[in-house]
This record gives sequence, C-alpha cells and structure tokens, in this order.
Amino acid sequence: MTAPPTPPELPFLPFALPEIGEEEIAEVVDALRSGWVTTGPKTRRFEEDFRAFLDAPTNETGLHAIAVNSATAGLHLALEALGIGPGDEVITTTHTFTATAEVVRYLGADVKLVDIDPATLNIDVGLVEAAITPRTKAIMPVHYAGLAADMPALLALARRYGLKVVEDAAHALPTTVGGRLVGTLDSDATVFSFYANKTITTGEGGMLVTRDAALAQRARIMRLHGMNRDAFDRFTAKVPSWYYEVVAPGFKYNLTDIAAALGIHQLRRAHDFQKQRVLLAAAYDEALAGLPLVLPPRAPAGELHAWHLYVVRLADGAGIHRDRFIERLFDAGIGCSVHYIPLHLHPYWRDRYGLKPGAFPHSQHAYERMVSLPLYTRMGLADVARVAKAVRAALA
Ligand SMILES: *Cc1c(COP(=O)(O)O)cnc(C)c1O
Repeated sequence: MTAPPTPPELPFLPFALPEIGEEEIAEVVDALRSGWVTTGPKTRRFEEDFRAFLDAPTNETGLHAIAVNSATAGLHLALEALGIGPGDEVITTTHTFTATAEVVRYLGADVKLVDIDPATLNIDVGLVEAAITPRTKAIMPVHYAGLAADMPALLALARRYGLKVVEDAAHALPTTVGGRLVGTLDSDATVFSFYANKTITTGEGGMLVTRDAALAQRARIMRLHGMNRDAFDRFTAKVPSWYYEVVAPGFKYNLTDIAAALGIHQLRRAHDFQKQRVLLAAAYDEALAGLPLVLPPRAPAGELHAWHLYVVRLADGAGIHRDRFIERLFDAGIGCSVHYIPLHLHPYWRDRYGLKPGAFPHSQHAYERMVSLPLYTRMGLADVARVAKAVRAALA
C-alpha cells in the first residue's frame, strides 16, 4: 500500500509585503543613471506631489510637505520646531510604537502616557484632559491602524488649553476626518511614514506636513545639519554654489532621490491600495463573523480608513491564549504580529515614569488579547480565506 499523496504545502504567507511595481523600479533606475542620488529633483517632485495629493493642486491653504528619511525624524523635527524642550510635557497614547514617544525624550522633554478608548484603540480624549498640567505643551495622537483618532475633540481641547498638536499619521495614508484627509486638519503638524510595511513605502522615509510657514522653514533647515541651503539648491542655483551658513546644530534627516523615486509612484497608487485594503478588511469581517473574536472598529460612514492593520482581539471565552493562537497560525504558515506591546510595559518607559499595568487597563486588556493578521495589497481574497480557515482551526 502506498500512502496517499500529501497536498502541496502552501507557501508561507508573511505578515507584510510591499507592492513595488515596474514604474517604481524604472524611476529608481532613472535616479541612479541621473547621477543625482541624494536629495534632489525627485525629492522635490515627491514633496510637491504629496502636497497636491493631500490638498489641491492650487495649494490655497499654504500646505508644506517636507520629505525626511523616517517618520521618527519628522516627529522629532516637528516638536523641535515647536520649541519643545526640557521641563515640557507631551501627552500621547501608551498604545503606540516607541518612536512616537522617544522623540519627546530626544528634546529633553517628558512623556505623559494615557490609556486608549477600548472601542477604537485610539487615545482617550477624556484622559488627555485629565493628564494636562501647567507643563503640558503638546498632544500627539496616533491614528491607530489607520482609523482616525477623535480629532475634533482633541483639537478643541488643544485650543482650550493652548496646546500644540502633532499627529503621528504613520498608519493614516489615506484617512479622513469629516471628509478631510489627515494631513490637512487644523493641527500644527502631521507626520507620515513610508517604512517598508506602511500603506505606501520608500523603504525608509517619511513626510512632515504643516501649514505653519515658520515651522516648515525651521524643519527644512534642521533636516540637513542646520544649513540654510541644501545641496540641490547650492549646485543648481546661480549664486555661488559653495556658500551656505550653519544657523543651528541640525540633524541628518533628508530623504534620498532613490527613495523619493519609489514614493512618487507609490503615492499615485495610494487610493487604489486603500481600496484593496478595504476589500480585504471587509472579507476578513465576513469570514471571521461569529467567532469568539472582537473584530476591528470600522470608520464612521463616509470616512476613509487606511487599514494599515487588521487587528482582532480574542474574546473572553475564546479558550486559547493569544501567544498560543499566534503559534498555531505560524504552524499553519501564516505570519502575524502584535501592535503594540504598550509603552508602559517596556523597561525604559516603565522605569523612567514608574508605570504600572493597572494604570492603563484598556491598553493592557487589548494588548493581552490582540493579534494583527496579514493585510497588504498583494493579498487576494483566497489569502483572506486561508487565514480565516487557520483562525477557525486555531479557535476550535
Ligand atoms: C512606523 C511607525 C512610526 C515610525 O515610522 P518610521 O518611518 O519607521 O520612523 C511611528 N509611529 C508609528 C505609530 C508607527 O507605526
């Protein structure tokens, strides 16, 4: 007797994959052949395209888009330009990536972490108000998973207390609030990420967006060593190419033209990418309905959700620990992740501020039960069905 043939193994479905097309590749090759590989014409074009994507080709509202080599850099530049420094406090959510908070520490200011709304997993505005002290200078909301934080309430609060608002929009391209894209709201600055697994990617990269002309000017200078003219200016302008002035000890945060070449074409596909993500998220919702899972919150009717992440939470009574659940999915050839291990659990943040898990009950509860399932544009409905089948089996 011969054993029945084993079915061919499905390839591993990774947690995230970028979608890079031939146009991106050709544009990168063009940058390489041009001889201009650092910040130059393609970065300028990417900035201009990005501004027009958010706003309108006419730019009546005076939006500035400043390309940087990471969102972390952009957040740092925004807070620096707003004058955040020692003695100041900045309020943000504990349920985020450490980059949101670390930039506050770069400047010698302190971070006040607050808990999330368990329904949206976004920062709880009531708790933000309770955390305000005379030292508070700014609020940094994060649009978790691509769903907008409650910006009308946060902006009203900030206005009432005279606080700055810097949005961490690393997940939020494209996301809307009241029909307006994140990046065009009334905050002081908004920062997007083009890290490898974000909704559009340049490998590494970010964009700082603001309507504050002084903030924009400061960020442009601090992006490149505190020099008042960048290399592209100096080598293409008619005034002497060698002359510049250093006006501050700036940073090395400029985006390369190689990266911007990717961004130019990724940006053109951003709305199509988002539609594919909506389709996949809806397919997950349908396939996972009725299981002992809390499915991710939806955006209000008429609003765009960027769907950077599809995060489910194991319901009480699911009968399996989250870690074991992730192992079972891995054994079924499916990559998962967790967003995030809350900041209050990491040694640095815990010890610096003496934080206890009990102080952030909603973040803690969500963290212990949450799993980010694969969600990216190269997936199809068959992939969603495969993940859903594995989820079902893991819960059985
Ligand atoms: C990815 C991410 C960042 C950092 O983005 P980089 O471009 O890698 O610096 C910041 N905040 C959040 C919420 C993120 O997901």
